[in-house]
Amino acid sequence: MEPFDKIAIIGLGLIGSSIAHAARRGGLAKSICGHDASADVLDRAGRIGFCDSLHADIGDCVDEAGLVVLCAPVGAFKAIALDIAPHLAKGAILSDVGSVKAAVIRDVSPHVPAGVHFIPAHPIAGTEFSGPEAGFASLFDGRWAILTPLPDSDPSAVERLKRFWQGLGSQVDVMDYSHHDLVLAITSHLPHLIAYNIVGTAHDLEKVTEGEVIKYSASGFRDFTRIAASDPIMWRDVFLNNRDAVLEVLGRFNEDLSQLQRAVRNGDGQTLFDWFTRTRAIRRAIVDIGQDTAAPNFGRNKPQ
Ligand code: NAP
Repeated sequence: MEPFDKIAIIGLGLIGSSIAHAARRGGLAKSICGHDASADVLDRAGRIGFCDSLHADIGDCVDEAGLVVLCAPVGAFKAIALDIAPHLAKGAILSDVGSVKAAVIRDVSPHVPAGVHFIPAHPIAGTEFSGPEAGFASLFDGRWAILTPLPDSDPSAVERLKRFWQGLGSQVDVMDYSHHDLVLAITSHLPHLIAYNIVGTAHDLEKVTEGEVIKYSASGFRDFTRIAASDPIMWRDVFLNNRDAVLEVLGRFNEDLSQLQRAVRNGDGQTLFDWFTRTRAIRRAIVDIGQDTAAPNFGRNKPQ
């Protein structure tokens, strides 16, 4: 694609810094500008050097940018939208990477000036790490990025943003924003809530077991601890902003858990076997389409 003259990244943590690295790798912008609310993050980003220029002033950062990407936690988007609105260039694309979409559209779209193309987006890629040091250029390679354009979004701007995400290494899908929130509630938000819950419960139990939960953590528990180490601010904002969809899938989850609980209580091996066989097939399908590794233990070293 024709590179943007200037792109502006607001929020220089895991996702923002990875976009900068990948955009530079792909030659997607002549100039990559970054802003973060934290002076410390700006300083650390400057030392790593993934942006061409860094701006403490958010207006300076977005000024004349052809693409502005909001990469802060979603709870900050409304205030950011208000701050940048007077500085956005006519014809610019304003996008974001927020993990929820209805709330972002509610908070941002009222403040988007006429002539600016607001196209929400969400890369389905991440790690449990945060901050500017966590970013890397290949984070989006082969992963999906979902665009949720609004009914009046300009098709050529949507196409440009699609090419940008493909240039970052992603495969791109376009989806209605409310469908996105429901799909992500089950594939991402609920698993995080369960992980936060199980690790918290185990920590409470640790008083009983005197450290054995950590010492003998089996791989199943360790996988939950990885997810439960994810950024607390980011995930707080996800649950505050995708409440209805999360409650909907949580209700379904509780019903299914009760069914499994009943099977365990009744010694109903057939129900357990059928259930576990079905879920094993889902894991195989995820590996088959290349969204995870088939290596034992996710390719990690075997525990000593
Ligand atoms: P992160 O590593 O914590 O980075 C967020 C950065 O934004 C931090 O440097 C933070 O500074 C800064 N920030 C906070 N408020 C700001 C404001 N008002 N203006 C400018 N910068 C501000 O988080 P992340 O994982 O990159 O997540 C960023 C966004 O990506 C979130 O909206 C999240 O929903 C989305 N997302 C995350 C993942 C994932 O797996 N992590 C995946 C897909 C999408 P401080 O640290 O000083 O607060």
